Amino acid sequence: MRWGFRHSWQRYALSLVLVAATSLVGIFVHRYFSPINLVMFYLLDVVVVAAYLGRGPAILTSIVGVLVFDFFFVPPSLTLAVADAEYLITFLALFVVGLVVSSLVAQVRGQAEAARRREAETAALYALSRDLAVAGEFEAIVEAIIAHVGQTFERRVTILLPTGVTTNALSAYPQDREWMMDEREMEAAVQVFRSGAPAGRGTCVQPEAQAHYLPLRTARGIVGVLGVRPEQSGSYLAPGERLLLEAFASQSALAIERAQLARAAHQVDLLQATERLQTALLNSISHDLRTPLVTITGTLSVLEGDEPLLDASTRHAMVQAALEEAERLNRLVENLLDMSRIEAGALRVTRQPCDVEDVVGSALERFGQRLEDRSVSIVIPDGLPLIPLDFVLIVQVLVNVIDNALKYSPAGTPIEIDVGEVDAEVQIRVADRGVGIPPEGMAHIFDKFYRVQRPDNVTGTGLGLSIARGVVEAHGGRIWAENRPGGGITMVVALPEAGPGSEHVG
Ligand code: ADP
Repeated sequence: MRWGFRHSWQRYALSLVLVAATSLVGIFVHRYFSPINLVMFYLLDVVVVAAYLGRGPAILTSIVGVLVFDFFFVPPSLTLAVADAEYLITFLALFVVGLVVSSLVAQVRGQAEAARRREAETAALYALSRDLAVAGEFEAIVEAIIAHVGQTFERRVTILLPTGVTTNALSAYPQDREWMMDEREMEAAVQVFRSGAPAGRGTCVQPEAQAHYLPLRTARGIVGVLGVRPEQSGSYLAPGERLLLEAFASQSALAIERAQLARAAHQVDLLQATERLQTALLNSISHDLRTPLVTITGTLSVLEGDEPLLDASTRHAMVQAALEEAERLNRLVENLLDMSRIEAGALRVTRQPCDVEDVVGSALERFGQRLEDRSVSIVIPDGLPLIPLDFVLIVQVLVNVIDNALKYSPAGTPIEIDVGEVDAEVQIRVADRGVGIPPEGMAHIFDKFYRVQRPDNVTGTGLGLSIARGVVEAHGGRIWAENRPGGGITMVVALPEAGPGSEHVG
């Protein structure tokens, strides 16, 4: 420990006060002690001063101690003359002990201070790496770096990252800082980005810049530039601080690179998803779109050419079949359009209080004759509240769910629609007696383009349920499937009775 004094002369003065106090005590007690023992008091002074006031005051204490001891206690008293030459050895010993003790203490203190500094540096680096490890988003990483570097070095910090492919354009974070990057600062930063060597304040390259710039370098290259600018002009980074700042910079560079790679991977994912969407679209056009078109054009050409030969009931059946196919085509195109709207973030949900009975009714209406060979039971309790929802979109959700129930269950099996109120939610349950969903498929059926591989040739795009989930979640609701004992599944659409305001899906 070292006592903190603003001016070093205060430490010297205190050491003199201590010598004076010791001498005063000595004057009172010297009759009872031999002078050699009195020396021990001065020795004690030297040790105490070395430990608490530092090396310089300790040397001063030993010199003044020798002189005062000689003056007061070595015969002849009150002169600096020395009667007995033996005392010269005492003086020398006191002086040498003073020197040795003070330099030992100084050394130990230096080591302790270095250890403390290293510990603080390690703690600061650890805190940075811990925050960087948990910061997933690019912005959070940049913010963590700015906060940690700023706090540790008590400086204002900026991070400059390339905006495009050229090395001339860097954009600065945080953007809302009052100290903007003027031309001179930017020039220094760009210079660092290009050359990979530090520049700006405290270096030989562009030293007139306000901030010190150093590269954020990884094994793959330079990912950006870190700029630190002192709060007051005139303060430079000490060599030790510079080393620590470099350690911060390399940690930061790795985190930024990780975020950039994650971003790139996400872009690739997006591109692949878009590609898959296009492929799915092409597939639907070739299969799902073409089949109904063939039926419709076939029916129309038969009707045109051979109409007189057909009896009324055959004609009616053909028109019905064509109508159904046209309806299927319509549903498919609607789903594809919804999907691309959800993808583009352009699907707008506008909620209005709606009667669930109307929603279910409208959805069933869309199936027309397809429901003829099915028994559809509907249970809706009286007194259900009106629910804020986007009528058209929720009808589409139910159409997709009911369409699946029809597609994936054999003809003639019943469909049960059951509406109920559970914990401030209205749950619409659509149950079938179909093939069910294997456990490994349960987690994925709401994913885009996911289809359970089945031997029977049911056509589809794997979009219906992902659209349903997108729409339901935009209403603050949930959708899930449950396998039923005895075969088939129940698809549950749960919508909150009081939803949030209108918003975009995407
Ligand atoms: P699609 O029906 O076009 O394949 P969906 O997104 O509507 O796409 O459904 C995804 C998958 O979930 C389907 O391929 C199907 O295997 C399964 N699925 C959906 N509803 C049912 C159901 N009622 N019974 C059995 N499987 C179903």
